[in-house]
Amino acid sequence: MTRKYWYGPVQSRRLGRSLGVDVMPLKTCSLDCVYCECGATNSLTLERKEYFPIDEIIGSLDEILKEKPDLDFITFAGSGEPTLHTGLGKIISFIKEKYPHYKVAVLTNATLLNDPAVIADIEKADLVVPSLDAVSAEIFEKINRPVKNITPETIISGIKNLKNSFKGDIWLEIFIIPGINDQDEELALFKDTINKLGIKKVQLNTLDRPGAVDWLKPVSKEYKEKIASKLGNVEIVNRV
Ligand code: SF4
Repeated sequence: MTRKYWYGPVQSRRLGRSLGVDVMPLKTCSLDCVYCECGATNSLTLERKEYFPIDEIIGSLDEILKEKPDLDFITFAGSGEPTLHTGLGKIISFIKEKYPHYKVAVLTNATLLNDPAVIADIEKADLVVPSLDAVSAEIFEKINRPVKNITPETIISGIKNLKNSFKGDIWLEIFIIPGINDQDEELALFKDTINKLGIKKVQLNTLDRPGAVDWLKPVSKEYKEKIASKLGNVEIVNRV
């Protein structure tokens, strides 16, 4: 079995029993987040292309899915930004046509959600989880270290665009980093943005495993609860 494009199933903190699908080369991404569990981005890009052959990815998924694994989700995530792959739509369509009983989730950094082709590619997914780690430009730069011309406005307008056209569920993820995006002013901006976007489910994520930098440390349960109470109606993502 070609495991190159999938991993697990793993017990995901958010999605239950999940088969991970990784369609991107290691650390090819439009961001270089300090908390990235895959380490530093080595190809910082916004270029969409067929990074790995679509047929190979589909063939590999077909091999595992015909074994009928017990899954809550098939989740596009992994070592780079999945929406950079131009075959994403075809791969999701393959799953939905041949294995319609499986639910599909796409975890995305939301940098490409203003692109109608990306929205079309993910439209058959059941769930999209975009990330928003800062509303202020300076904080965004510190945490997400983006490719040129990507700002918090790009992310927020992309999520808005998704919200206007996507029929499935949308859960927003916020990754909190002590001392950087946990100040009252930034939390107020998050709250305001979440309200304006009309996103009903927001998940608060924090560091579990080492990130791309060594100064980032895991936080306590009490800390997470304090931030969650300041943000309002958010769910804390805990390690399983
Ligand atoms: S967007 Fe995801 S893959 Fe890209 S650097 Fe950030 S955490 Fe890593």
